[in-house]
Amino acid sequence: MFKIILAETWGFCFGVERALRIVEKTSEKSEGSVKILNKIVHNASIVKKLEERSITSIKDLSEIEQGTLVISAHGVAPKVKDEASKKGLNIVDTTCPLVTRIHKATQQFLDKGYTVILYGDKSHNEVKGVVGLAPDRIIVANGPAEIDNLPVIEKPLALVSQSTQSLDGFDLMEQKLKEKYPSLEVENTICEPTVKRQEAIAKLAPQVDMLIVVGSTISSNSQRLLELAQKFCFKSYLIDGVEQIKIEWLKNVEKVGVTAGASTPAYLVKDVIESLYQIYEKHYLPKTITI
Ligand code: SF4
Repeated sequence: MFKIILAETWGFCFGVERALRIVEKTSEKSEGSVKILNKIVHNASIVKKLEERSITSIKDLSEIEQGTLVISAHGVAPKVKDEASKKGLNIVDTTCPLVTRIHKATQQFLDKGYTVILYGDKSHNEVKGVVGLAPDRIIVANGPAEIDNLPVIEKPLALVSQSTQSLDGFDLMEQKLKEKYPSLEVENTICEPTVKRQEAIAKLAPQVDMLIVVGSTISSNSQRLLELAQKFCFKSYLIDGVEQIKIEWLKNVEKVGVTAGASTPAYLVKDVIESLYQIYEKHYLPKTITI
């Protein structure tokens, strides 16, 4: 019998809910323009809804001269905040407290003279923000494969992580780095909501014939959920919304698992579940013939 099973933990994390709540309040009480530096969270549907209310994103401080600047949940480098202050902007900071924790952990290592390896994607805004603490003393590596290419490091070395990286990947990074640098100091800064979503998918994926992650392709945590799901269930897909579901995916499928990234609103997940049931009923439900 066709069945859809939702992961035990899915969707919005507290950091995303918090950021959206702050933007909401800011736009209600602000009389001037409200611009968000980078995307508030990595979800196209949320960004579009904000744009419909004239709360738009900018990529660079050169695009704003006055009004309110919202710093996204991913945080920014200290010099970006300094520059915004110098421009006299009203700064509203929605940086997730668990991203701030990464900044603090990294800064503590730097203060003690360490070089820091940051496990993460160097093009991601969260990573750019952390690297901005000390660009010449923080090295970004996006997985164990990149460790062999690291320059020779003389100083004491520490390892931290982007908040949304894979737990397994972090363990491998630690193992491999310790082979080269046995005195490596480690602080696992992958956030708790990411851990919970990864644990839930590792439990669900082996039980289903197909798994759908609802989330944006630019969402780091959604990508990690997809990678993990694919280890256990080869028919795993990452989709932004219902329009990307393909009818043939449901052929010979009885159990479908569904989860969502930390920046995916619940209404998108509900739409996906409804659409999956409709496709099954229309195309694959066995028809009984009465004579
Ligand atoms: S994924 Fe983690 S670090 Fe990122 S906003 Fe959510 S709780 Fe914060």
